[in-house]
Amino acid sequence: MTPFDDLRHITLFDEPMAEHTSIGVGGRVSYLVEPRDWDELQIVYRRAEQTGLRLRVLGRGCNTVVADGPHRWIVLSTRRLNTLRRHGRSLEAGAGFDLARLVAHAGSLGLAGFEPLAGIPGSVGGAVAMNAGGRYGSIAEHLVGAVVAFPGQAPRWMGARELGLGYRSSNLIDGKPFLFTAAFELDSSPPRVLQERRQSIIAEKHASQPMNARSAGCVFKNPKGTSAGYLIDQAGLKGFSVGGAVVSHKHANFILNSGEATADEIFRLIEIVRERVEQQSGIRLELEVEVWTDDEKMNDKMTNDESRTRKPEPLTPNTEHRTPNTDSNTNTRTRTRGNPDGRA
Ligand SMILES: Cc1cc2nc3c(=O)[nH]c(=O)nc-3n(C[C@H](O)[C@H](O)[C@H](O)COP(=O)(O)OP(=O)(O)OC[C@H]3O[C@@H](n4cnc5c(N)ncnc54)[C@H](O)[C@@H]3O)c2cc1C
Repeated sequence: MTPFDDLRHITLFDEPMAEHTSIGVGGRVSYLVEPRDWDELQIVYRRAEQTGLRLRVLGRGCNTVVADGPHRWIVLSTRRLNTLRRHGRSLEAGAGFDLARLVAHAGSLGLAGFEPLAGIPGSVGGAVAMNAGGRYGSIAEHLVGAVVAFPGQAPRWMGARELGLGYRSSNLIDGKPFLFTAAFELDSSPPRVLQERRQSIIAEKHASQPMNARSAGCVFKNPKGTSAGYLIDQAGLKGFSVGGAVVSHKHANFILNSGEATADEIFRLIEIVRERVEQQSGIRLELEVEVWTDDEKMNDKMTNDESRTRKPEPLTPNTEHRTPNTDSNTNTRTRTRGNPDGRA
């Protein structure tokens, strides 16, 4: 008997998170629940309260690295919250609506503004939470507001300003509060023009980023006035690896799972990269990816706790080495979920 027996139709039990993240690592979680509407969402919140288990919110897992498990967590997946409504130049999308689909669909309707998001994998909820974007703009620019959920409360509207979107950040991180639907106001433009723009941005991304390898996107935020990728490259770390985790040859701010990497190997590589860049440039990089772990020490390390020692980690010769170019290596492990559009 488990607290989710009556929700079997929307629950996966003892589920490996590697199957739900684009980088393909992460241990098993007790329950992964996929509510289909507001009422089921509230039931999940109540179960979390009754069981005392930690509740985590997952979109498509394209910006999240989950620690090796097992984890006594409830993961609330948004993938079935995928409604879409249009009123003139406004679109209202459910948290789990696929971002790539939204971008393409808006363009086909002659609604302009999402083109800078072309090629970015994920869900609408994850994109708002992370303020996804790139050199041509971010999702914040056309966001009007969102219907959000707090446990046990009625739906609440939060305007864009209250959602606090900044550089790859917002007030929504880790599902607090939970974005249920997001509303956007777009401009008008001929669909053909928008399609060409999207295609050119996607081509640019493919030329500069390892889009077909397993990753969680950019690992670090760009520091003011420079780029994290440049700093990592300058520190001589392209191709540097720990076990199956490797710094991309194509874009140094991407860490790839070249095969059977563990989360622990990715975390160790993140630490080494950060230490080396700090030694070389004096700049301490801040994480862009979300790290899910119950290990407080690791969490502090990953989230850039300044109080930690600045001594570089010693290298262990037999597990850490430089690898040949593995950027085009798509993992052959069977994946049933997570980033299903195959962009990562
Ligand atoms: C190959 C590749 C390329 C990428 N390129 C870019 C890029 O160019 N620009 C860019 O910005 N990002 C990029 N990313 C990162 C990623 O695609 C974006 O951050 C995306 O928005 C993540 O969406 P997601 O649904 O996968 O979020 P997840 O990884 O599932 O979640 C991210 C965070 O959002 C929270 N969250 C998710 N849904 C909700 C919700 N409904 N309510 C509240 N909180 C929520 C989660 O708890 C977590 O803290 C790239 C990733 C890959 C793999």
